Amino acid sequence: MEEWKEITLRRQIVAAARRLDALGMLPGSAGNISARLGEELILVTPSAVPKASLQPEEVLVTDLEGKVVRGIRSYRPTSELPMHLEVYRQRADAMAVVHAHPAASVALTLLGVSLQEPILPEAVLMLGEVPTTHYATPSTPENQEAIRPWIKQHDVILLARHGAIAIGSTVEEATTKMIVLEHTAQTLVWAHILGKPTPLSQEEMEKLLQVRQTYGKTAPGDEK
Ligand SMILES: [Zn+2]
Repeated sequence: MEEWKEITLRRQIVAAARRLDALGMLPGSAGNISARLGEELILVTPSAVPKASLQPEEVLVTDLEGKVVRGIRSYRPTSELPMHLEVYRQRADAMAVVHAHPAASVALTLLGVSLQEPILPEAVLMLGEVPTTHYATPSTPENQEAIRPWIKQHDVILLARHGAIAIGSTVEEATTKMIVLEHTAQTLVWAHILGKPTPLSQEEMEKLLQVRQTYGKTAPGDEK
């Protein structure tokens, strides 16, 4: 049973990597994906392997301290592993973490445009509020510190001048949140090109938050 779970998760990580890579969110070997394998173990993508060619057997198993437990001996886990571990330590409900470099989302952080403001109803339902961290040097412990205060209350976090992370109850859910984030950011970029986008009213926002509570964190429009 456990073995089957690991095989399934490895396949899901590879599928997510291909999906995000096809959308241009994992340029070069950027970005990384992890999934919770057990209480003390996670599966995580290796460093310096382009996600387009990632194979299920290349995904590594580490403990929550980041020590490699199983995997190809010459491989190292992603340098952003501390960020993933921070999420799993803080959130027992986190089953998967996706980190990518979605271009429009990052562009907004360069201009100081916040995604905290409610713009699109479906994005509010799916993502909730999306905070932006202060700038942190990629691949250093600074990233882990930058996301630390936001993890408990948010599933999607923008990393200034760098990328984003999405937390989900499955690999697919975390991946979908990343895609919805980038779609929202792209829409916002278009709106800024054309004029000045208006946020949702407080009244409409309250109605949406009620819907979000009723349906959980999954948008009711998912099937459409
Ligand atoms: Zn990154």
